[in-house]
Formats: sequence, structure tokens, C-alpha cells
Amino acid sequence: MVCPICGKEMTKGGIILSGKRISGEFKWYPQNEFDKKGLKAWDRSDGKDINAMDISLMGVEKFKDTYFCDTCNKIIGIFTINE
Ligand SMILES: [Zn+2]
Repeated sequence: MVCPICGKEMTKGGIILSGKRISGEFKWYPQNEFDKKGLKAWDRSDGKDINAMDISLMGVEKFKDTYFCDTCNKIIGIFTINE
């Protein structure tokens, strides 16, 4: 994967989300929904539920296909969503 900001090769890896997430959500929203504040934030729509690769009994979730750019100090992820 080439960094979309600087164009250099990125390092492949994964994100591990640890700790309990029993009833929480991990979602992506379009910019206009994401930017909603206050009471409007309660009716965010068009969220995409991000699919964890592996949910273990220890409350650890893994998200593969993420890339780190050493130059920009950014992480970019390719996430699969639940249909
Ligand atoms: Zn970069």
C-alpha cells in the first residue's frame, strides 16, 4: 500500500481493540453525519458497522489490513463493514 498523502510505501499491520465493548458500537459515518453535534448527534444515520476480524472471549477485536506511514505518522485502514 502506498501512502495517499506522501506516496511512500507503508508498513502493513493490524489494529487490536482491547477491553470490553459489550454494547458499544464501532461505526463509520459520512462527514455530514459525523459532524452533527448536540441533540442532532442522536439521530445520526447512514452509519456503517465495522466488522471485526476476530472477537475473542477476552474482549479483544482485531482489524486487519491497516497501514502505517512512517513519514506522515498516519494509520490508514481498509475496513470491511457488516452488510
Ligand atoms: Zn505518508
